[in-house]
Amino acid sequence: MDCLFCSIIKGEVPSDCIYEDELVYAFNDIDKQAPVHFLIVPKKHIDSTDDLEEEDADLIGHVFLVAKKLARELGVTNGYRIVNNCKEDGGQTVNHIHFHVLAKRQLNWPPG
Ligand code: 5GP
Repeated sequence: MDCLFCSIIKGEVPSDCIYEDELVYAFNDIDKQAPVHFLIVPKKHIDSTDDLEEEDADLIGHVFLVAKKLARELGVTNGYRIVNNCKEDGGQTVNHIHFHVLAKRQLNWPPG
């Protein structure tokens, strides 16, 4: 299967990695939408949030704890946003589940 984020996790496509453990890989987004904008990607290939199973609950909880840890390490002190785009209407462009973490600017609501 041809998956960009699987290739990044394997090191076949270069990325600006900021964190890695047995479950997730985190790297800076190539097209930053905020001064801090990185992606946390589960190493397990799951297409989208809509494809999660009960067995993935701990993995997704881990993603959020990694987001908090990395935000602190990057000096984020005034809050941040975690975004998951799911499938076409959700704006997902890479079909490997991932979570954007954006910070260090005021983010607006509602999204476009
Ligand atoms: P989505 O639109 O699926 O929620 O987010 C995909 C994200 O992946 C986009 O923000 C896009 O900029 C980022 N992206 C796409 N290709 C690459 C790449 O090759 N390297 C990195 N670092 N980010 C990428």
